[in-house]
Order: sequence, then C-alpha cells, then structure tokens
Amino acid sequence: MSDCLFCQIVAGQIPSYRLYEDEAAIAFLDIGPWHRGHSLVVPKRHTIDGTVEADSWHELAEALVTVSQLLRSKLGASGINLLSNAGASAGQEVFHFHVHVIPRYDDHPGMAGLSERDPGAADDLAGLHALLMAQ
Ligand code: AMP
Ligand code: ZN
Repeated sequence: MSDCLFCQIVAGQIPSYRLYEDEAAIAFLDIGPWHRGHSLVVPKRHTIDGTVEADSWHELAEALVTVSQLLRSKLGASGINLLSNAGASAGQEVFHFHVHVIPRYDDHPGMAGLSERDPGAADDLAGLHALLMAQ
C-alpha cells in the first residue's frame, strides 16, 4: 500500500537502519526505542493485524529468532521482549503488522522496566546500526 509507512520502508522509499532481510520479512531499528537496540520485524506483504492469520507469524519466525540472537550477541542483552500491538486500543499506531523485538538488560528488569525508556536508547542509531552489522 503506497500510503503505508512500513510498506514504504520495505520498498526502500523511506530510509531505515535495516538489520535483516529474507524473502518474507525485514527487520530494522525502531526510531523511538524503549531500550537500546529496540527493533521491529515486519512482513514484506501488507497485512494489518497479526492476530488474524497464522501465516503472518510463519513469515516472521526466522527474522525474529535471528534478530533476537543478534541483539544478545552484539549488545549483551540478557533478555528479549517480543511484543505486537494489535489494534488501536492495544497501542498500535502503524497499521502494518509488526513485532517489537526489545532487548532487555539487567538494570531495569521485569515488566515494570519494560515501559521505562532507557535514557540514551535513541542516541546514535547510526553508530548502533554499524555495530550490529559489523562481522
Ligand atoms: P506500534 O505502536 O506498535 O504501532 O509501534 C510503531 C513503532 O514504529 C513505534 O515504536 C515507533 O517508534 C516506530 N516507528 C515509527 N516510524 C518509524 C520509522 N520511520 N522507522 C522506524 N521505526 C518507526
Ligand atoms: Zn504496509
């Protein structure tokens, strides 16, 4: 869909800090991260709500695991939250299905720490991207 933000990112019409791509999915850094390395995994095809069809999840499975492992190995995340907001009442703001991959560290543990944004989490996304993509 031409007016969908994430379709435009998939198509490369809007820049993103891309971390991963396969036939069905891409992953990129969230520009409003709650914790350092917060990423989004999205299907390439436009679909709105991940709670409607199982195929949406099958398309993202490889990307979700790969990006989670990347955040653990490169950033030293000790935990990962996988989160999808389905519907406006659940907090969905971009209506193209996506899963938040949120790395967690030991300083703000637990569910309470999930919503406390880490200070500096949005600093130097370009440098963070370079670190994550380095061999
Ligand atoms: P949600 O509230 O689940 O729909 O989440 C949408 C997410 O997209 C938010 O965490 C935003 O920070 C993120 N976001 C919005 N625009 C962009 C963008 N251009 N590049 C990367 N992430 C974005
Ligand atoms: Zn879309």
